[in-house]
Amino acid sequence: MTDSIERIKCLIIGSGPAGYTAAIYAARADLHPVIITGLEMGGQLTTTTEVDNFPGYPAGVDGTKMMEDLKAQAERFGTEVRFGSVSNIELSKETGGIHKIEVDGSKHIEAETVIIATGATAKYLGIESEQRLRGGGVSACATCDGFFYKGQDVIVVGGGDTAAEEATYLANICNKVTMLIRRDELRASKAMQNRVFKTKNLEVLFNTELEEVLGEKKMMGDEVVTGVRVINNQTKETHTIDVKGVFIAIGHKPNTELFEGQLEMDANKYLITKGKSSKTNLPGVFACGDVQDHEYRQAVTAAGSGCMAALDAERYLAAIEE
Ligand code: NDP
Repeated sequence: MTDSIERIKCLIIGSGPAGYTAAIYAARADLHPVIITGLEMGGQLTTTTEVDNFPGYPAGVDGTKMMEDLKAQAERFGTEVRFGSVSNIELSKETGGIHKIEVDGSKHIEAETVIIATGATAKYLGIESEQRLRGGGVSACATCDGFFYKGQDVIVVGGGDTAAEEATYLANICNKVTMLIRRDELRASKAMQNRVFKTKNLEVLFNTELEEVLGEKKMMGDEVVTGVRVINNQTKETHTIDVKGVFIAIGHKPNTELFEGQLEMDANKYLITKGKSSKTNLPGVFACGDVQDHEYRQAVTAAGSGCMAALDAERYLAAIEE
């Protein structure tokens, strides 16, 4: 049994800063947007603790609280926020065409515009201690959390451009940064490698993998990182390194499976948007936030691009009506 089909002007997929900002603008433009939140309501920010770099919060803000505020702001202007997951989508190739969306395998929506804000997911190693200490010293975002480790020692896992960027960024703040590289070379571009090797307080350990994150329970019962045990995958020797922070930088996975074969993507499956806009290759379909940005990946840049997507959707609809 399927529900009847609902027709709307603007469907937003994803409830991170990009999706909610798109909703605030789309609602204020009378597009009566509906957000399908995805299963991780609020997006990646709900998995971090304190957000200190979003403008307007001088004392910082809890990531989950910030997303609740953004949701409330979107709802204030009439956005309908629905918890659920898009299970199938058929995007129209025609200007003025109708996009067909299936939610949770049964509900059907037809939308004149679709704003994709499904984000990207940071990859983790998957070891138990790493998962246990997320939020207690294990992070996947140096720009977000690096400041908490000012003057301390940290490690970065990974050898791509992201890891190289995060390690050099952290070296400016921290006492010492150690990079763990599982092979005998970095994957990062030569320019980034040069920056890594020129940074004095940054040590690179090749053929080295993270075996366990070590933690200690504090008075309040919270566990915090005290070090890591690493293994040389050639000699099988292990040793421990005392660090307060562990940054996992082994890549991100954009959440784009739904759009494969319909929307243009780059080699890493990020959606491609045209020039400075949020326009995808299909009319009436817009993308914002981390799903189309592997470079900046900040809450504030995602929010900015969400605003752009709503303005692009509004202008697209206005042009059709004329
Ligand atoms: P990449 O896939 O390029 O690199 C991932 C790194 O993590 C590699 O060194 C990889 O090792 C390592 N890794 C993966 N899995 C594990 C694991 N289980 N254990 C240990 N190490 C692991 O991801 P990035 O996020 O760095 O970059 C993604 C894309 O974005 C790239 O195309 C990159 O060039 C681009 N980018 C560009 C930037 C810029 O231009 N300023 C900045 C950031 C990213 P291995 O090499 O052995 O596979």
